[in-house]
Amino acid sequence: MFEKDLLKNKTIIVTGGGTGLGKSMANRFGELGANLVIASRKDDVLKAAAEDLRKTGAEVEWSVCDVRNPGDVAELVSFTKEKFGTIDILLNNAAGNFICPTEKLTEGGFKVVVDIVLNGTFNCTLAVGKEMIEQGKGTMLNIVTTYAWTGSGYVVPSAAAKAGVLAITRSLAVEWAKYGIRTNAIAPGPFPTEGAWSRLAPPGLGIEKALKNRIPLKRFGEHGELANLASYLVSDQAAYINGEVVTIDGGEWLKGAGEFNELDKVPKLAWKAMSAFRKGKK
Ligand code: NAP
Repeated sequence: MFEKDLLKNKTIIVTGGGTGLGKSMANRFGELGANLVIASRKDDVLKAAAEDLRKTGAEVEWSVCDVRNPGDVAELVSFTKEKFGTIDILLNNAAGNFICPTEKLTEGGFKVVVDIVLNGTFNCTLAVGKEMIEQGKGTMLNIVTTYAWTGSGYVVPSAAAKAGVLAITRSLAVEWAKYGIRTNAIAPGPFPTEGAWSRLAPPGLGIEKALKNRIPLKRFGEHGELANLASYLVSDQAAYINGEVVTIDGGEWLKGAGEFNELDKVPKLAWKAMSAFRKGKK
């Protein structure tokens, strides 16, 4: 669906790029010609992922970086500049999350998620943003979630932090447009990954089945679908898209939002009976 070299000569930092959706998006960017720097906390995971990603033909480097630590982020930025000269695109994808009744949360549990998701995104955005301002151009893409605006029980730290990331996205889309920087977000619905599934849909609780059932399209997302959307949004083809959050969830959040959507459980016969009843009344 894309030109072969859509992202040629673009250098892209992907936080959390060694696993899950970050790795899948990095892989697609690599296929489209980008230079990649993947960053997260585990050296061995990053090294193995970089080897896989190089199979796309891309130049791939990795940098051990805890996004909560501004010193690590500064190193990530100088490492990327040293290797590739510029930073064209930042994908803020790193995150932490777990399910927990809110009354059972500790202050530490809340803080750790907010530190990774919100402060980590801010740290990377600020450090890379300064480089982009100097370059006079750049693109930021933040991975949020649909409960960034609906909220969700049992994931309050993540919901609060992702809402903050969405606010950063929209704020900077306006404030930094004058520097030639576009800022957008993607809100994925459920996409199976080892990381998310082990923390959010542990086996035996029926969570996976329940998650799938509430999606109008009755399936989970495929990594390639998200990776293509991300590739488009960071590419120059999307040059006029700024401040947008694109939802890719098979209609999941709207299904929960519409007051009468649960009526799709009503059997056909009952609809016929209701219709006959209405006509009879007339
Ligand atoms: P994942 O594989 O667990 O990805 C999270 C990544 O973040 C890991 O590579 C992890 O690497 C990195 N990370 C965590 N803490 C970090 C830190 N302090 N510093 C640097 N890196 C850190 O899960 P995923 O499902 O692919 O999630 C990717 C993104 O999609 C997240 O933003 C998530 O909120 C979002 N999302 C996912 C879904 C879904 O259904 N999968 C739905 C909505 C939104 P290390 O642990 O090695 O540092």
